[in-house]
Amino acid sequence: MKKAGQRGSGAAGRDRTSGGVDRRGALRAPPLRPGPDPSNPLHTRPIEFVGSFPDAGVSVDPALPEIAFIGRSNVGKSSLLNALVGRPGLARTSGSPGKTTLLNFYRMPGFYLVDLPGYGFARASKGARAGYRKLVTAYLRTRSSLAGIVWLLDIRHQPSADDLEMQELLAESGCPVLAVFTKADKLTRSTQPVRARQLAEALGLREDQVQLTSSQSKLGITELAATIVAAAGGES
Ligand code: GDP
Repeated sequence: MKKAGQRGSGAAGRDRTSGGVDRRGALRAPPLRPGPDPSNPLHTRPIEFVGSFPDAGVSVDPALPEIAFIGRSNVGKSSLLNALVGRPGLARTSGSPGKTTLLNFYRMPGFYLVDLPGYGFARASKGARAGYRKLVTAYLRTRSSLAGIVWLLDIRHQPSADDLEMQELLAESGCPVLAVFTKADKLTRSTQPVRARQLAEALGLREDQVQLTSSQSKLGITELAATIVAAAGGES
């Protein structure tokens, strides 16, 4: 097999969209291409949007294990979901944060991904906050098919009062929780592990209870996908 940049390897050196050797002879990495990643077990499975529901007791057919995603509004939940399943337009990214108090169900073979509404939206009314609390508390406390919770926190920020309140609710649910730190690309490579350790410590979590991710650079996405498949009882 020819190495990128060797003579005869097609457009290398001419085509600026592929990897190879540029005019000055420097090696260039190929750009990150969107598209399925065969090593990501969620990219290789079909996914279907089931619906948006206002009721924590909704019965979905068939009943399957559910993996729920929760985090503060704007934490990067929609972007993470889209990166995880490799469909950029699946979950809508922050057009109007805090507006939806619905549970969004996506079906994959053998389990559901459930996108819970984001909390802590500063401009939400008292009524909206109460409605949110009721829906999410009922879902986390009573949903017998809940197999795992992916809890998102922005790597750059200390946990907010809302985050700590959510942590209590998650602990009460008795369900396995993985804390996912988002937007790692906003920090330098050397700061990422330091900040991840600090945040884990602030939350009283062990290293194996947290996962560092970036939807932009795709850091940690394949690992998280494998964890989700395992938590749902499937094989990756
Ligand atoms: P949600 O409200 O939790 O669903 O958050 P979104 O996915 O809509 O993201 C909120 C904002 O953060 C948007 O402007 C995204 O482009 C940005 N964002 C999300 N994930 C990342 C990431 O991994 N890296 C960077 N740099 N920005 C991100």
